[in-house]
Amino acid sequence: MTLIAELRDVQHVYLANTPLATVALRGAELSVYQGEIAALVGPSGAGKSTLLHFINGLLRPHATGHVRVFGQDTGDPHSDIVTLRQQVGLVFQYPHQQLFERFVGDDIAYGPRQQGLSHEQVTETVRWAMQIVGLDFDTFVDRPTFSLSGGEMRRAALAGVLAMRPRLLALDEATAGLDPRGRREIHRLLRHLRDEEGLTILLVSNDMDEVAELADRVTVLYEGQTLAQGFTREVFADRQRIAAYGLDLPAAGEIVHALHAAGLAVDLGAITVAEAEEAIWQAMTR
Ligand code: ADP
Repeated sequence: MTLIAELRDVQHVYLANTPLATVALRGAELSVYQGEIAALVGPSGAGKSTLLHFINGLLRPHATGHVRVFGQDTGDPHSDIVTLRQQVGLVFQYPHQQLFERFVGDDIAYGPRQQGLSHEQVTETVRWAMQIVGLDFDTFVDRPTFSLSGGEMRRAALAGVLAMRPRLLALDEATAGLDPRGRREIHRLLRHLRDEEGLTILLVSNDMDEVAELADRVTVLYEGQTLAQGFTREVFADRQRIAAYGLDLPAAGEIVHALHAAGLAVDLGAITVAEAEEAIWQAMTR
């Protein structure tokens, strides 16, 4: 497994040296390996969004901490942050914060234009990015960004980031507020990006069902510190610890545990709906 992002002992204080100082990170750790879907979870205020800002150099370690992403040590003032920002695409929680051009096509074209691509290359890249996120080029390219629905805005913001051709895509609450169908579509898209386009994905999520379905590995952040990291199944196996961090458990896991408590000899390892179905079927036909 190739380590592409390594964040160690990351500290961050907002409004430092003022009466409003807030300690957001106090020694956070995060590793992301090539080709995986990694999840960063934790209760609200744990520092997840702040840690995400360290991964593409929006925030950089000063006196303490160590951040190395795609070989760049971002604490080093000479590191190539411009290249890093291209390699790491960040999709913010509120997509409207990310859309700033008047028309959808211009917004998605912004990054490729900055990269100095030819007109044809820009159009081709915009077409590719829109097709990946499921926005029809002819229908949407000339639409005003403000006229998009919430789900479409999210797709357009994602397309704008993909158009930079990043290697690592980091998403903050990619599916928050979407209906189940919208969520499923984003999940399919993220799997496609990983499996077919070779991207590595880092997902900040509060939805443990989503994490169980998608993530290979999970990092748990709590009050600015990393309290657990490991393979998704192993992290969720410690149910008491997860609950103590104020996190939900995947619903499928809760169901098999409830059935087990009610006397059904069901395998307790399930964390996804498909695994729970299989475990229940096995227990009932045994
Ligand atoms: P999470 O993403 O896990 O909800 P955040 O990284 O957003 O956590 O926030 C961590 C802490 O930092 C919280 O206490 C939050 O109130 C504080 N914080 C976040 N952003 C800012 C900011 N721009 N200015 C001041 N405090 C902030």
